[in-house]
Amino acid sequence: MVADANATLKTLDLSTPLQFVKGIGPARAEMLAAKGLSTVADLLYYTPFRYEDRRNVKPISQLSPGEKGAVLARVVSAKLSGIRRRSVGLFEAVLHDGSGASLKARWFHGERYADTLLPDTRVAVFGKVELDSTRQRLMVQPELEVLSGEDEDEETLHSGRIVAVYEAAGKISTRIFRKLFDRVLKEAPTPEDALPASVRSRVGLPDLANAIRDIHAPPPDAAIELLNAFRSPAQTRLIFDEFFWLQCGLVLKKNKAHQLTGYSFAVTDRAREQIRKMLPFKPTAAQRRVVQEIVDDMKRPRPMNRLLQGDVGSGKTIVAAEAAVIAIENKFQVAVLAPTEILAAQHFSYFKRLLAPLGYVVVMLTGSSTAREKEQIKKLIAGHLVHVIIGTHALIQEDVEFARLGLAIVDEQHRFGVEQRLKLSQKGTQPDVLVMTATPIPRTLALTIYGDLDVSTIDELPPGRKPVLTRHVPESRVESVYSFVAQEIKSGRQAYVVYPIVEESELSALKAAEKMFQHLSKEIFPNLRVGLLHGRMSADAKETAMRSFQSGDIQVLVSTTVIEVGVDVPNASIMLVEQAERFGLAQLHQLRGRVGRGAYQSYCVLVTGKLNDISRERIRTLVESNDGFHIAEMDMKLRGPGEFFGTRQSGIPGLRLADLIRDTDVLELATREAAAFIERNDQQELRAAVRYIQEHWQRKYGLGQVA
Ligand code: ADP
Ligand code: MG
Repeated sequence: MVADANATLKTLDLSTPLQFVKGIGPARAEMLAAKGLSTVADLLYYTPFRYEDRRNVKPISQLSPGEKGAVLARVVSAKLSGIRRRSVGLFEAVLHDGSGASLKARWFHGERYADTLLPDTRVAVFGKVELDSTRQRLMVQPELEVLSGEDEDEETLHSGRIVAVYEAAGKISTRIFRKLFDRVLKEAPTPEDALPASVRSRVGLPDLANAIRDIHAPPPDAAIELLNAFRSPAQTRLIFDEFFWLQCGLVLKKNKAHQLTGYSFAVTDRAREQIRKMLPFKPTAAQRRVVQEIVDDMKRPRPMNRLLQGDVGSGKTIVAAEAAVIAIENKFQVAVLAPTEILAAQHFSYFKRLLAPLGYVVVMLTGSSTAREKEQIKKLIAGHLVHVIIGTHALIQEDVEFARLGLAIVDEQHRFGVEQRLKLSQKGTQPDVLVMTATPIPRTLALTIYGDLDVSTIDELPPGRKPVLTRHVPESRVESVYSFVAQEIKSGRQAYVVYPIVEESELSALKAAEKMFQHLSKEIFPNLRVGLLHGRMSADAKETAMRSFQSGDIQVLVSTTVIEVGVDVPNASIMLVEQAERFGLAQLHQLRGRVGRGAYQSYCVLVTGKLNDISRERIRTLVESNDGFHIAEMDMKLRGPGEFFGTRQSGIPGLRLADLIRDTDVLELATREAAAFIERNDQQELRAAVRYIQEHWQRKYGLGQVA
């Protein structure tokens, strides 16, 4: 027996598959695999989501009212009351522990206990002691654990201390996890502590072995509040690790990119003169500042990788146009990539209006260009007969060849994956890349996802803009909104009416939009010129509709969310969103950004049906705030960071314990420390770090090559 135990001890290492760990076996290994845990090392990082303070275990007779305590006892009797009045479901159990006193435990909505808390079941309960009306000891909604009864010794694992609570994995309960960890922590070696010693001592973090042990088995003097706030030294250490390596990887990647040779553009007097001629208005201070940042990048002999963010309507396009002029004046071509055909068409007309008078040729290439058009345009591009090429995804297809691509501008980045960005930049020999986004990215996400980009922010709106007034109106009062729309139009303005696409199939979505269009044009606004725009229309029809709206021929544009990004019609003063509860927060903010682009007071009206808690919170956020950054933060909180970018964004790293919302402070600390660490340039530590990142994090974080 002893020899056997030693054999296990010797063979358990970090890469041991879990099924070979004593107490696991094939069935449990499968349940663990479903949680992504396959080796001993994985298991060590399966961290508790909560802790319970069970240090104060006492006989029932010694519990005083008001005290928080833990009790090990037997169920004497139990009953479920109020079963017919379903809302109550009050479950009450009477417990004895041989100390002479009894304890009542009461749970609301306790139906689920009826089958488990049978008389004679051994349980542990933890909670605050009160006295009921008959002066009996009582715990309301105590924490409960049903004890196995096999092994009384084992109870020291589950009570008399601060215990960890794990998310169950199949049939592996939190108690089984505690048992497993008790064994594995004794038998398994600890993972290599790769955090550079200099960083660890600067920040004052525990070493890895202690951190892992304390996370699963907190020391007796640990602070329960810190544990449950994920801020015990041990938890902080593991959270810090994840962010630190991610940030190191990103900094290394950025440094590597900075070593590439790219084009160095000259800012000539002629380029300055052309820009002066082009500008239709005086740029804001924020626009001037970001142009300077971009120009500084363009002058450097390395590829620019810059994110330009700014709220909707902050005037990013003109900034991009200025960069385009500089590239063209240096005899290069410029590509502008847009996420939708409508937006591409709009950029096309905007850039043409600005750049054609300067003698530059602007063309557009989208998926719906005919084969002949495509051939022709491609020839022009390859022959350097055109200067600015605007397009959708069609532009990054393999067979478009640029004569001399110097600058790639990607608009509305949140719709493009990292890969597409890469593909576009491969069209040239390291062209400069400027990514623009109108979805302000919460700082924490920007640090992680765009950590390899330099960031410029336009934090100021053009002068004279009146903030859009946002109102919430229930469906039952939609008529009043329609008469308000009619009134605004009478005074010369235009309006958008947006419908969600609810149906899955494109055909029925199209029908819904058309039905609404009929309803609004025939019954609600019979005397107004109403137009329709939706995603399934041909590119030509879409462009015609957009142009008619732009020119004022269409007064009310009924639309699906195809107008969500970038559309710019300054005379439109109303954004009416029907069934607004079906839209996401960022989406609504984008829609609202379509109005308030001219000098007129503009309105966003959110018409909703019944709201649940989350949709009510979304609507409230919009009514109260016009600040895109605040809205993005709220959006991330309401949806969770994973979903924030939807499935299109593949750049979210697989964090284990770290949480982008909860752990902002640690992320910022780790970001500073990572930058300082690489800056210090201690060759020995740095080499070890690079090796560690390559082995452990590169693939997981989608970092590509860091060195
Ligand atoms: P976004 O940042 O949302 O892409 P746009 O570039 O479309 O914003 O600009 C929104 C509107 O504001 C456009 O009509 C643009 O011409 C106008 N605009 C941009 N900058 C200025 C400025 N400095 N002064 C006046 N109008 C401006
Ligand atoms: Mg834009």
